[in-house]
Amino acid sequence: MAMRDGAAYLAGLKDQRRIWHNGALVEDVTSAAGFANAAHTIAAYYDFQCDPANRDILTYEDEDGERSHRSFKIPRSKQDLRDRGAAYAAWAEHTGGQLGRAPDYMNAAMAGVAAAEHHWGQQDPQLGRHVVEILNHCRRNDVCLTHTFVTPQIDRKTPLGEQEPYLNAGVVKRTSDGIIVRGSRVLGTLAPFCDENVSFGLPIIKGEAELKYALGFTIPVDAPGLHWVCRDSFDPDRSSHDYPVSSRFEEIDTVAVFDDVEVPWENVFDYQDEKIHNSALLAMQFQESLGHHVIVKNVAKTRFLLGLAHLIAESAQTNSFINVQIRLGEIVTMLQTLESIAIAAVEGSAENPANGVWYCNANAITAGLRLFPEYYVQIIDHIKQIGGSNFMAAPSEANMEAVTQAVGPSVERYFTGAADMTEEGIEKVPLFRLAWDVVGTSLAGRQELYERFFFGDQQLSKANSYQRFDKAEAVDIVRRLLDPEWLSQS
Ligand SMILES: Cc1cc2nc3c(=O)[nH]c(=O)nc-3n(C[C@H](O)[C@H](O)[C@H](O)COP(=O)(O)OP(=O)(O)OC[C@H]3O[C@@H](n4cnc5c(N)ncnc54)[C@H](O)[C@@H]3O)c2cc1C
Repeated sequence: MAMRDGAAYLAGLKDQRRIWHNGALVEDVTSAAGFANAAHTIAAYYDFQCDPANRDILTYEDEDGERSHRSFKIPRSKQDLRDRGAAYAAWAEHTGGQLGRAPDYMNAAMAGVAAAEHHWGQQDPQLGRHVVEILNHCRRNDVCLTHTFVTPQIDRKTPLGEQEPYLNAGVVKRTSDGIIVRGSRVLGTLAPFCDENVSFGLPIIKGEAELKYALGFTIPVDAPGLHWVCRDSFDPDRSSHDYPVSSRFEEIDTVAVFDDVEVPWENVFDYQDEKIHNSALLAMQFQESLGHHVIVKNVAKTRFLLGLAHLIAESAQTNSFINVQIRLGEIVTMLQTLESIAIAAVEGSAENPANGVWYCNANAITAGLRLFPEYYVQIIDHIKQIGGSNFMAAPSEANMEAVTQAVGPSVERYFTGAADMTEEGIEKVPLFRLAWDVVGTSLAGRQELYERFFFGDQQLSKANSYQRFDKAEAVDIVRRLLDPEWLSQS
């Protein structure tokens, strides 16, 4: 079948999935308040990939001779990475990078997992074959994947093996057909809108008592015994004028509860081998693999935020002041840095001789992943500082209409900007409603948390960067400059 359009995607969501929201099961995520809008946004993603105008940029002729999204392709050359980056950029730029979990993110993740067939299959070649077949299945059926990698944050100090068993999802037993999984994993973003879930990679385990958690598998979102516990939806179910982001991009986050879920053996690719499990993320070059999507999305998101910051400054002509220009200039520098990183990531890529797969440049990806969470927080601060009270002076569509009817059209002059923004086709109130949905609403708060955490805790990651960085060259320079004979010798 290969690629699906939006209608085929939406039809696939009507199954037995157990999505818990606001005290009840969601009957149909394609029509329920708080969910339907996001489902239709993802459907638009699938229509976008089927649009003939996007064929060459988004798709390739796959191993079966069908058209598939480029994110499913295991990169075998630098050109493959360039093409994949361009495909990521097409949707991300189209949507201002507002959908962190556009399906191409996890398509590529699954391709990255399958590219490490040699790693998964080193003790049991069957597990290596499983991962290849899982990728084929995902590509052939254009499966939309969520992922739950992380141990629930219950107790981060006590080793997992000394905690109550099965708080984190682990294997209860092996059956003739597969394995039984019990426990919980976080945080399945997009899960209500996905077809399948993949869990693997974490936690790093130690010893026999934790071996049950050394596990990697895929499972349909509607598998018997699998429950998805949602936070509140931040889609207020209002017009896209009033909530332009929340009404479109509420990708939702969920806790996965595995209540003795049977996982078919052919869906398992990581099974109770401490060494293979613990070394998987590095062996797979997972950061370089998956980070490519993140970097491209962040370029698009920063470009959008720059546009937003510029327009709100222009609306009151505060961009004529040097202090505001400095803030705007900082966003420009951030964008230029991220664009440069995106280029370096691909142009500095290299082949891994172990599997013949091309991976983005590790230094570029690491730098991009570490910088953006801080950039994002700073940009949001700049936008708030530039916008001032205007965020609070942007009434809803209905409120504006009611006041205009009561007072007369002249009331509108209190809600216009200094600059003639209508030339750009942009009015001030909708602009500030958009900006508030980026910096101030519930979804805006969630987006900030997302950027801080979704790729792991960046604080510990930075410490890890320092610990792993080869410091020999840097130390050599210091040693040279400390040598009193150094320049006189040359
Ligand atoms: C909006 C959002 C969406 C997400 N979506 C997904 C998803 O789709 N799939 C998925 O798998 N995950 C997802 N995540 C989870 C994400 O991967 C985790 O948030 C991240 O790995 C950090 O784990 P944690 O939240 O448990 O925080 P922790 O790792 O527990 O960190 C919390 C705080 O405690 C500190 N801390 C914790 N342990 C230590 C330690 N040993 N030493 C020193 N300090 C420590 C950290 O520095 C941090 O400040 C999402 C997270 C968010 C916020």
